[in-house]
Amino acid sequence: MNKRYYYLITIICVVFLVVLGFLRFRQEEEVTSEQFLMDTLVSIRVTGDEQEKLQEAVQKAFGEMKRIEELTDRFQAAGSSSCTSEICRVNSAAGKQAQVVDSDVFTMLVLAKEYADLSGGAFDITIGPLLDLWGFGKAEQKVPSAEDIKKALALVDYRELVLDDTDNSVLLKKTGMSLDLGGIAKGYAAGKALQVLQEHGVKSALLNAGGNISVWGQKADKKPWMIGIQDPRDPGEVIGALTLNNESAVTSGDYNRYFIYKGRRYHHIISPFTGYPADKNMSVTVVASDPGIADILSTTLFVLDYTKGLQIVEKLEGVDALFVTADRKIVISSGLKEKFTIKQGKDYTYEESGLVSSN
Ligand code: ADP
Ligand code: MG
Repeated sequence: MNKRYYYLITIICVVFLVVLGFLRFRQEEEVTSEQFLMDTLVSIRVTGDEQEKLQEAVQKAFGEMKRIEELTDRFQAAGSSSCTSEICRVNSAAGKQAQVVDSDVFTMLVLAKEYADLSGGAFDITIGPLLDLWGFGKAEQKVPSAEDIKKALALVDYRELVLDDTDNSVLLKKTGMSLDLGGIAKGYAAGKALQVLQEHGVKSALLNAGGNISVWGQKADKKPWMIGIQDPRDPGEVIGALTLNNESAVTSGDYNRYFIYKGRRYHHIISPFTGYPADKNMSVTVVASDPGIADILSTTLFVLDYTKGLQIVEKLEGVDALFVTADRKIVISSGLKEKFTIKQGKDYTYEESGLVSSN
């Protein structure tokens, strides 16, 4: 072979190997950080080009979540005699006067009412009086009397929450009514945090707010994001895994915040129809592109029987759900057929939705 030709090929090979080596070593930067926020541990992991920029993005994302927390916490700060949050202010003025609120708070309230309507009242942010009665959000919980539950139930009705979008004002019509945004604020805040991360140019993000997971972008190893779905009766064990792609998976369960009394489990998701903890499911996971919607719907569907839940989910575009019912059935909506892998050997029966999705 011509000698010059031989040299040329050698040089091309060497250049190729050097470039390949350079690309391999120029690895993406990664930042992971945790903060205790919204009553849970929130962790954020991002990848991108520059450490400093990633650090800044993550701190700003946490800042945004903290801002939403401070707007929505309905309890007065310890030692304080007046309200520091917008929701506390609205609750204090119940039955008296409309209050003008921050635009994010107003957006959350509009969303909450929309899904209350959609679910026939299964999701109801005027659930405050019932939560107080049961002691959720306070140091001690107890099983209330049937009479007290009836009284509190009379104060729970999202239709008595008046929203005026001309000035973002909010009124609870009856004295004693109170808003609780526990079923929506965390997801909404996660959505705001993700937005901040994207604006700061991160290449990928994984946000975990106490088991509510959001993923965005592509992982460094280019593999799909996969998350485990916790077994509601076997902590540390999973019932299966979900593949996510620029989505959030939010779970509502009866196993995180509860107390046991006379052998019965009482947890923090209350049925606005009965005044007692909802008993149709052990957990419901909702997958959607918007974590705020996923959060609302996980609480909503938890209250409902899965057949009703599926009817709601299959009509919503880009939304899917996985139910672990009280009678140990795992049921998935049609859009999860390709995304959910069940763990074999678990003591659950398995069903896929027979309904046709509009996704
Ligand atoms: P977590 O916040 O524990 O992740 P969820 O997203 O399901 O779980 O929210 C549960 C919270 O929602 C409760 O702690 C309470 O603040 C609120 N909540 C309880 N029942 C209802 C309901 N029927 N509709 C709307 N919010 C509710
Ligand atoms: Mg929720």
